[in-house]
Amino acid sequence: MENAILVVNCGSSTLKLALFDSHSLRCTATGLAERLNHDDAVARIPELEGDFPLPAGATHREALEAMTKALTDSGLLSGPPAAIGHRVVHGGENFREAALIDDQVLEAIEHCAGLAPLHNPVNLSGINSTRSLFPGVPNVAVFDTAYHQTLPPKAYLYAVPYSYYRDWGVRRYGFHGISHSFMLTEAARRLGKTPATTSIISAHLGNGCSIAAIRDGLSADTSMGLTPLEGLVMGSRSGDIDPGLFDYLKSRGIAQDQLHHVLNHESGLLGLSGQTNDMRTLCDLAEHGHEPSRIAIEVFCFRLARYIGAMMASLHHLDALVFTGGIGENSSRVREQTLDNLKLLGFDLDQELNRYGGEYSGGHIESPESRFPVLVIPTNEELVIAREAVRLTSASN
Ligand code: AMP
Repeated sequence: MENAILVVNCGSSTLKLALFDSHSLRCTATGLAERLNHDDAVARIPELEGDFPLPAGATHREALEAMTKALTDSGLLSGPPAAIGHRVVHGGENFREAALIDDQVLEAIEHCAGLAPLHNPVNLSGINSTRSLFPGVPNVAVFDTAYHQTLPPKAYLYAVPYSYYRDWGVRRYGFHGISHSFMLTEAARRLGKTPATTSIISAHLGNGCSIAAIRDGLSADTSMGLTPLEGLVMGSRSGDIDPGLFDYLKSRGIAQDQLHHVLNHESGLLGLSGQTNDMRTLCDLAEHGHEPSRIAIEVFCFRLARYIGAMMASLHHLDALVFTGGIGENSSRVREQTLDNLKLLGFDLDQELNRYGGEYSGGHIESPESRFPVLVIPTNEELVIAREAVRLTSASN
């Protein structure tokens, strides 16, 4: 594929790749490497048959090399890509939009690593790898925080001493901005409106979960904060807790670094159910009478409903509530149970449309009585990154 756009998304132990045609922006291949830096690292390109093992302990760079070689050998990628787009988790206050990567941009991303120590360093390793693998090809950084840079101070400030913000950048940044911005453009398209006049509440519910109030095209509030730990209940993250918990648990012998691990990796759906962070499995367990799983789902949906109500405070009208992410797109139970808490606000689902996730109704799952449209829209973060890579490099010329 000539003039391909390569999209690179490095997670802590995963690497996702996608190839797009730069003219049509059609996705031509995808790839996923998992368990990187572990003995059983493995990679898979669905367009090529089967998994292929990576060397034990393979790094992001080694996985990227192996996967781009496989894409090249198979002819899915012919020659260097026209441009490369990277997902970068934290852009701090430096980036209000995507950026063409140069040394200055790299330095600014490094500077933000203190705010996202689990994410920015692996994002940087992806950027450095593609820069040396494909010298001369432009690289573009697309930030998960950038879309939320329009949050007003009343939404981004914590009520702590102001100097913490001024001197150390302590504020709410918000994440999943790439997905929330895609929800805006897709919802606007389906509603026959322009993005700039569209106001939605966007609920991205995957392993990580966040919600955003988008007012006339701009992010006005969101549930994640300084880090992606704040807000909704997630797969293994607690979301909101009382910071008083820190002192109390210290008195119970739980050290701060242990608590950090517990809140990020042993809480959320996993912590509540004692079983799994996987919503599909939890729904199965709950249906078979497993009470902790039922309660985990109930807490998840109730917290989400509270946040949907809270997002109303930032809007002057609402064009649609939008569900996306693995759970938002696939779990009719979660959508129904969440909106059952919001009858007073006028949300009402059509059970049949909800069961099929809006597949045959342009994404709509609301009943005719509902005060607001409710949409299910599959997210496509890779496409947003590819679009930005084209926009900033004119790679389609
Ligand atoms: P993501 O991080 O967006 O890939 O989403 C992962 C989450 O989506 C996991 O909790 C999955 O269990 C959940 N999920 C995927 N398919 C379904 C389904 N059919 N029903 C319920 N949850 C699902």
